[in-house]
Amino acid sequence: MSDWDIAIKRGIEHNIPRVYKVLKEHPYLEDLARKVREGKIEVLSKLDYYIDMTMKSVESIGGKAYFAENTEDVREIVGKIVGTNKKVVLGKSMVAYESGIRKYLQSKGNEVWETDLGELLIQLADEPPSHIIAPAVHMTKERIRDLIKEKLGVDPGDTHEDIVKVARDFLRQKFLTADIGITGANAVAADSGSIVLVENEGNIRMTTVVPPIHIAITGVEKILPNLEYAMNEALVQAAYAGLYPPTYVNITSGPSSTGDVEQKRVSPAHGPKEFHLILVDNGRKKANEDPVLREALLCIRCGRCHFHCPVYRAIDGKMGDPPYSGPMGAMWSGIVYQDYKPALLCSHAGNCREVCPMKINIPKVLEYLKSKYFESIRKQ
Ligand code: SF4
Repeated sequence: MSDWDIAIKRGIEHNIPRVYKVLKEHPYLEDLARKVREGKIEVLSKLDYYIDMTMKSVESIGGKAYFAENTEDVREIVGKIVGTNKKVVLGKSMVAYESGIRKYLQSKGNEVWETDLGELLIQLADEPPSHIIAPAVHMTKERIRDLIKEKLGVDPGDTHEDIVKVARDFLRQKFLTADIGITGANAVAADSGSIVLVENEGNIRMTTVVPPIHIAITGVEKILPNLEYAMNEALVQAAYAGLYPPTYVNITSGPSSTGDVEQKRVSPAHGPKEFHLILVDNGRKKANEDPVLREALLCIRCGRCHFHCPVYRAIDGKMGDPPYSGPMGAMWSGIVYQDYKPALLCSHAGNCREVCPMKINIPKVLEYLKSKYFESIRKQ
């Protein structure tokens, strides 16, 4: 058995039964998923209107909002805020990866650390992630132990708990001394300008609160009409990822503030003094104009389709362009990289559609992308 076979077998055995158990124990989650789908469809039907509303809301609570047409814009905006010779902690953000932010900031002389444990392992190994919520799912714990020993010079021991403790000790100092924290967002509330982030490790809470500057980078499709929808999205994402109840749900609405002196609300208080939200297009608005591709924008990044896909499992997770992988990755490679080739891998088993909380007809989208691929070949 290869390392991948061992690691994915263990990952699937842990994940799949857990999601079914969560859904059985909390039957209201399926209803919440339906509502989130409705909220996302509402935003996509008036995307420019909601982008504008979100940006105004962010500014009204003391934050700064930016619209980035492409990844070059994202790097330019982030580069101006961060500058050089800073220490940056990154909370898991797929759009930051899509924009090449870690390597870009490192090239400008900044010290940059991924703080999600899986992403840290990916950084140490200098490898692409293999799953959207479990980026190091391809690594066995034996390999992780050897990697940490080699890169951090510490022998973490043999258990899962030992490995996590070493990462905790290593990252704690980085959090406490970082100048800037960068995260993504699970959802953005158009009415309040708040971002919602769901997590279990506590790294997002540290990244969003400890450094004096917080930058959130996310796709425009993450906007929901209001904070209620955004909160629901976080709960649904956690449930279908098999991590329910989530240990932490973070709401960030602008920089830190207090109203404790005569009830006058002033900013900053103990948390960040600056909050920046970058809303990224990079192919999403064009996809939204296409009735088939629009479906893919409903994805909430739960990663459930991966574990149920026979192709993803059979080809060592190499389905899609990083950070996007699995059935959703084959769709998203087409949207943000205009790469339709990963769709060719789809065998149309249909499991992904059955388990997707957003009821995305993934095989239909992939069939459409296949036809776009052959159309592009014909034109060559
Ligand atoms: S396509 Fe559906 S199942 Fe797959 S990650 Fe997105 S929301 Fe989850």
